[in-house]
Amino acid sequence: MRKAVYPGSFDPFTNGHLDIVKRAARIFDSVTVLVASNNNKSHLFSVDERVNMIKESICDIPNVTVDSTSALIVDYLSSHNSFFIIRGLRNSVDFEYEYTLENNNLFLDSAIETVYLTSRKENIFLSSSAVREYMSYGVDCSALVPPPVLERLKAKFEKK
Ligand code: ADP
Repeated sequence: MRKAVYPGSFDPFTNGHLDIVKRAARIFDSVTVLVASNNNKSHLFSVDERVNMIKESICDIPNVTVDSTSALIVDYLSSHNSFFIIRGLRNSVDFEYEYTLENNNLFLDSAIETVYLTSRKENIFLSSSAVREYMSYGVDCSALVPPPVLERLKAKFEKK
């Protein structure tokens, strides 16, 4: 059974992330979207909020699950018998960053294979940070994030 893990911050989960998940789910037997808690970064949503939003956004894809970890991604993979990391690529800037990350992961565990899926053209300029910024200016983000995420974003920014 080929199990893949799609790790990220997902703060918040966007339609770009969702597209990568759907396509990875066609390639692998199972895909886990893994919310990685990075304590060095401040986040808009807590890990639990992000996990719940992603669960609701992927509920119609049978072979996808959602989890979180504060451990090293390679340690999460080895404890779940997986060797494949999924990452998305939008442009050459992503490539530079991802290739460095891939090689750091290989240094930690040489059995890990990172599989890249390139962004569909409608998602190339979409990022979690752009969504956060748009929301702070009251821009309609309904075309950019799944409905469960939009609902939480609206609630979060109404409170601010
Ligand atoms: P990070 O894990 O670096 O904090 P994110 O959580 O935003 O970043 O993204 C997780 C993964 O999804 C990364 O590989 C990132 O390049 C990819 N990704 C982010 N946005 C998109 C998008 N619009 N289309 C395709 N891939 C994306």
